[in-house]
Amino acid sequence: MAKAPVLTPRADDFPRWYQDLITKAELADNGPVRGTMVIRPYGYGLWERMQQEMDARIKATGTRNAYFPLLIPESYLTREAEHVEGFAPELAVVTRAGGKELEEPVVIRPTSETIVNEYFAKWVQSYRDLPLLINQWANVVRWELRPRLFLRTTEFLWQEGHTAHATREEARAFAARIQSEVYGAFLRDVLAMDFVSGRKTARERFAGAINTLTLESMMGDGKALQMVTSHELGQNFAKAFDTRFVSREGRQEHVWQTSWGSTTRMIGALVMTHGDDDGLRVPPRLAPVQAVVLAVKGDEEVSAAVRALGERLREAGVRVEVDDRTDVPFGRRAVDWELKGVPVRIEVGPRDLESGTAVLVRRIPGTKEPVAVTALPVLLPRTLEDDQALLLAQSRRRREERTVEVSTVDEAVEAAGTGWARIPWAALGPAGEARLGEQGVSVRCLVAADGSVPASDDEPGSVAIVGRAY
Ligand code: AMP
Repeated sequence: MAKAPVLTPRADDFPRWYQDLITKAELADNGPVRGTMVIRPYGYGLWERMQQEMDARIKATGTRNAYFPLLIPESYLTREAEHVEGFAPELAVVTRAGGKELEEPVVIRPTSETIVNEYFAKWVQSYRDLPLLINQWANVVRWELRPRLFLRTTEFLWQEGHTAHATREEARAFAARIQSEVYGAFLRDVLAMDFVSGRKTARERFAGAINTLTLESMMGDGKALQMVTSHELGQNFAKAFDTRFVSREGRQEHVWQTSWGSTTRMIGALVMTHGDDDGLRVPPRLAPVQAVVLAVKGDEEVSAAVRALGERLREAGVRVEVDDRTDVPFGRRAVDWELKGVPVRIEVGPRDLESGTAVLVRRIPGTKEPVAVTALPVLLPRTLEDDQALLLAQSRRRREERTVEVSTVDEAVEAAGTGWARIPWAALGPAGEARLGEQGVSVRCLVAADGSVPASDDEPGSVAIVGRAY
């Protein structure tokens, strides 16, 4: 008899499957204020692993962490015209505090370019103070009209990098370095996610930036998700906040800046990229729990054996959890770990003890086989690496199979029903892009003919990647 599905099957209703999975894998709950979210311990564990991996890569670029206030004077936001215009509809503003009306309203940060610049202007005097490379881990608030758990919440957790450089070229190179060495490497090597790296068109650019770089990934239903962004801000904020330095030649000049961010959205992306009808599948390099050792039945000997095995695997460098809650039926525990997407289950019962074996269940390829317990400390780390590679290959194959080359707007809209279209930017242009927009389809990014990131919007031979986006 076929078992009843634990989740709504993806093919029946993808959005419902996503919601189901988030609830049943205990990742998050909706908060009381619309658009807010409670991140449960298992979901937060994923975020902590993301933070660890990202933070190390960010620091390797010479960037250091700092912290700026949550509350920003409203007047700061209005200093950079495009920035305020872009963010005004999403701002949450505090007008009353301490029991009375405030003289100047304060904004809950939607992002921190303004307040960071106020301080960069104090800290930077000469070219010797540059580059100034700062990151902060924080929460931000953007009043989202169409919230969805993890993907688009009103309050979200993120890291935001802010840097100041002496020249435009240096700032441009740094934004690109973050895009490839931090974000690209993290998505590929840790999240096992395929992506396209490109630049946003003027229409999709960050409010206040001169160039926005993006990594776009294809989700399980063929839609696109903007994973991360890295912006070149030019001198826009530097001029608004008068962030200047004395150059080597003794001239007063405005700094050139970048900003870049990645958020808890990546958890939603993980679900929609690697999840299947049985639950989440967490890439082993990210997984807070890489292997769970399960006692099949309540038995002193089995309990002792799973604890000993857990210890040996920990010594072999695997992140292990031991599950000997034998008062909960085994089947229920197995389904629960399956939902949570723990890469490997090692099941040990009384009969296994006699034969010195255990059952190795691999969540990612979905295989189940008996293995000698003594082989596990060597076998397991290799298996985890193989499964990591498998996830990346699956994600890459999906994009390749569901991307088509087209030459007209109509064909692009049709292709966006199942995946992405590639269309020469020269054939589309801002007018074609506006027509796509009327049908809920967008240019996710522009890529150069050789697959690299174009240096400008009108670089000859550029291709637009078109799809429906979350
Ligand atoms: P931005 O500062 O607008 O460039 O945003 C940085 C990154 O945050 C984007 O690339 C998105 O991946 C992500 N992001 C934007 N809005 C939200 C939101 N409401 N919830 C979660 N992540 C978001």
